[in-house]
Amino acid sequence: MSDCIFCKIVDKKIPAKIVYEDDKIMAFEDLNPVGPVHVLIIPKLHIKSLNEVSEENQELISHLMVKVKEIAEKMNVFEDGYRLVANCGELGGQDVGHLHFHLISGRQMQWPPG
Ligand code: 5GP
Ligand code: ZN
Repeated sequence: MSDCIFCKIVDKKIPAKIVYEDDKIMAFEDLNPVGPVHVLIIPKLHIKSLNEVSEENQELISHLMVKVKEIAEKMNVFEDGYRLVANCGELGGQDVGHLHFHLISGRQMQWPPG
């Protein structure tokens, strides 16, 4: 997707602080962090949101999920804990139309979220 900001990050056309990358996924620091640790974990493939995840993407999404703890370890929050969030659509508060999971930590999380 030529006009997708996260695809541009994947293609290294715009810079990001990358904390993990392999052939299928990428994790980079959020531009406007809401906590001391705020990383976005994305599939390299352009999938718009959770609503567009299909059977075909099963392996990719499981791979991403398996890597979450590795990324948490890298950010030094594996032991302390963290929150993983995927906003979907307008009511979910999704701004960027490329599936991403927020990994947030470094402060006490509240529940329920706002
Ligand atoms: P959403 O609201 O879609 O769940 O989250 C989008 C996230 O992307 C926001 O937390 C926002 O700060 C982050 N973001 C938007 N544009 C950029 C960018 O160009 N670079 C980085 N690293 N993060 C971005
Ligand atoms: Zn994209």
